[in-house]
Amino acid sequence: MKQRILMVEDEPGLVLTLSDRLMSEGYDVDSREDGESGLEQALAQTYDLIMLDVMLPKKSGFDVCRKLRQSGVQTPVLMLTARNQVVDKVVGLQIGADDYLTKPFDMMELLARIEALLRRSVAKPSETLMAYQFGSVKVDFRKAEVLRDGSGVTLSAREYQLLKYLIEHRGETISRETLLSDVWGYDATPETRTVDVHMAWLRQKLEENPRYPQYLLTLRGLGYKFDS
Ligand code: CA
Repeated sequence: MKQRILMVEDEPGLVLTLSDRLMSEGYDVDSREDGESGLEQALAQTYDLIMLDVMLPKKSGFDVCRKLRQSGVQTPVLMLTARNQVVDKVVGLQIGADDYLTKPFDMMELLARIEALLRRSVAKPSETLMAYQFGSVKVDFRKAEVLRDGSGVTLSAREYQLLKYLIEHRGETISRETLLSDVWGYDATPETRTVDVHMAWLRQKLEENPRYPQYLLTLRGLGYKFDS
């Protein structure tokens, strides 16, 4: 069966180019040009993935995403943001978007992100994790909030996604390449070193002793593991 994608985007040229390409990749594509009809469509039918532009007529991509999550729709959402909307990423994660792509983007990158999201949602356990606690750290997935000893820890969007992924796959050995492809969403750039840097930042923020981590473990030659 073909996987179904709903694209909510108001630039006709982009809709045309993307639909053509996605269909040639074997996806079924529906599109809507404003937030209101996009939301209606997303609630009326079942999709495997929803691409949401942030700046839309009638209802913003954020409002659409929030409404979908409130209505219990768990379909992966890939948000398309214009340049310079960095702050929006955090807002987006808090309201339940799964990934972001900044316009203009490379078609290969878009396809890689879509594949990663679809793969992730298939692999996801049926029961969605609401919160997770380790040591003095508590992660609230509904609010996209991380607390350490009761006070808020500021994570970048990518750090948060990485942490979430590791927790969802706790106990598993995960290679840097897998992390790059599933968390960053593409395999060419950035390099695997990027993963190490983000892991180091996470340890600084969350581990009691970052040099001797208890949870965010390095497995030499293999990758990383979240020890639960
Ligand atoms: Ca737009």
